[in-house]
Amino acid sequence: LHLTHPNGDSDSIRVFVRVRPLTQGTGLTTDGDQSLCLTVTSPNTVRLLSKPEPRTFTYDHVADMDTSQESVFNSVAKNIVESCMNGYNGTIFAYGQTGSGKTFTMLGPSELDNFTDDLRGVIPRSFEYLFFLINREIERSSQSKSFLCKCSFIEIYNEQIYDLLDTASASLFLRENIKKGVFVEGAVEKFVSSAAEAYQVLSMGWRNRRVASTSMNRESSRSHAVFTMTLESKESVNEVVNIRTSQLNLVDLAGSERQKDTHTEGSRLKEASSINRSLMCLGQVIMALVDVSNGKNRHICYRDSKLTFLLRDSLGGNAKTYTIANVHPGSKCFGETLSTLQFAQRAK
Ligand code: ADP
Ligand code: MG
Repeated sequence: LHLTHPNGDSDSIRVFVRVRPLTQGTGLTTDGDQSLCLTVTSPNTVRLLSKPEPRTFTYDHVADMDTSQESVFNSVAKNIVESCMNGYNGTIFAYGQTGSGKTFTMLGPSELDNFTDDLRGVIPRSFEYLFFLINREIERSSQSKSFLCKCSFIEIYNEQIYDLLDTASASLFLRENIKKGVFVEGAVEKFVSSAAEAYQVLSMGWRNRRVASTSMNRESSRSHAVFTMTLESKESVNEVVNIRTSQLNLVDLAGSERQKDTHTEGSRLKEASSINRSLMCLGQVIMALVDVSNGKNRHICYRDSKLTFLLRDSLGGNAKTYTIANVHPGSKCFGETLSTLQFAQRAK
């Protein structure tokens, strides 16, 4: 007897690997060491130069060092934005150790507020494409369709939720109801009607994140930043109004590196363990979803962390869940690169 899970869709979970350049930018230093620990051997395989033998890992797609931001957007995000237009939820995660290029991939070069730059990342490009599709749809439907788009931007730090669009607010809580599913109670939602307006919300939140990291001592490499676009479409057909809502979540995860300092005590230790908790739960949820899409019956522990519970309605089922695993190719990063490649392999 072969049962296909009603919500299973072999295409709904995808994993991409992006290799950052060896030396560009700041972050991880290689101390002048130019040797590599991996090579990209095809558009979907990476060969890790491990001892005693090299190991090959396979993914849905691998982007080598020289891949442009536009091309990363096209292979990873385009399709998820399209399915959001068709009423499905979706999530894109950037995973990897600190300095591996997560923020560069999602946002762009860190100090960038100019979203016309070629180096702008997945999030601003998703806005542009979404509004391109919205405007085309409105024209095509000769105004019988209308759209409402709103954004929220929150940070999960130490299993606490903070609103990046309202720095004055205390930490917020998750709630759920039938109409909205899981949501952050009291989080600011900004209505936007163009990509330019969405950029403004994004850069405001990003600036607040930077400020919080100094004034509130929240190290941004240890927090998860979740940008959510909620799209509501309304269509009038013969006096009947159809309303459809979907969400697109764009997530810059906390660094995946293991805590090296074994002497961390008190709050630092608490920080380390709770970050591992959200990341660990995410890994478990994605792996359970992979089993479900292969027809297995698995319980999925969404409630075990803030991140997975918040994203419950956008992970699994009809939603698309895409992960970009960012790796550094330098020999000095072998250990963390191996662990990211393994995580990404399990998530497929
Ligand atoms: P993370 O967010 O994972 O800690 P960053 O995105 O901040 O890492 O990247 C670290 C540094 O490397 C930044 O200066 C960033 O601009 C640069 N960088 C990362 N990926 C690339 C890339 N593909 N091309 C050029 N520079 C990059
Ligand atoms: Mg970052």
